[in-house]
Amino acid sequence: MTWRRLLRRTVILWNVAAPFAAIALVMSGLLWWALGLLMTGHALWLISTLIPACQWCGEVVTTLSQARGEKEPVGAESKEVWLTIDDGPHPEDTPRLLDLLDAHQARATFFFIGANAKKHRKLVRQVIKRGHEVANHTMNHPQYWYWAYGPGSAEREIDECQKVLSDVADVTPRWFRAPAGFKNPIVQQHVEKTGLRVAAWSARGHDGVVTDKERVLQRLYSEIQPGGIILMHEGRVADGGGRLAPQVLDELLKWLGEKGYRCVVP
Ligand SMILES: [Zn+2]
Repeated sequence: MTWRRLLRRTVILWNVAAPFAAIALVMSGLLWWALGLLMTGHALWLISTLIPACQWCGEVVTTLSQARGEKEPVGAESKEVWLTIDDGPHPEDTPRLLDLLDAHQARATFFFIGANAKKHRKLVRQVIKRGHEVANHTMNHPQYWYWAYGPGSAEREIDECQKVLSDVADVTPRWFRAPAGFKNPIVQQHVEKTGLRVAAWSARGHDGVVTDKERVLQRLYSEIQPGGIILMHEGRVADGGGRLAPQVLDELLKWLGEKGYRCVVP
């Protein structure tokens, strides 16, 4: 058993058993011990859940070399990056993103929401046909509460999306990303069981909430490094009108080309 699996089991068990142990401690007059027990369990749970790159309770991929299982980091000379695009497919954005990727001979992984994929099956197949990868971003993208989901509902979100994508794309997704990157220990346990791997990111422009193209791009430029994982989102309108994702990707791909970067899929 790996240390992560052991820690995950401990955290899950701790949080299941702690309330009972706390009651026993309170009844014995050990109030502070009871509080300490509860708070330590909650802290372990919340830190591993709410910090997207935290690997305490399961592997989270944050670099291209980790995704490939290589010990050596991607060298500055090869300048490869992994471009990942969340929240699609989107009827206006996805086709334009695909054209831009083609024009720059870039490849990307699209983390699709199952419900969107069900509505826009043709787009899912287009993504595969044009040499990109589709990945699991839950069935309904419950971004505000997914971190707090219990076993049944958390697992259903993953399984249903996996089924839709496998049926529509005729390939089994290899990667999972939780909404906002919040993956609790139960989610990590299920992801591992399903044969998926959790992918986080190392560079993002906050385009899930920021809709000013320039701000998004400047932030991305400051965080992109060889071997990094770039995070983008589909489905937003840009400040001043127009679609945000195609505008950002157009500029980003030009910038990456000028700097000698290549977008690859692990
Ligand atoms: Zn998302």
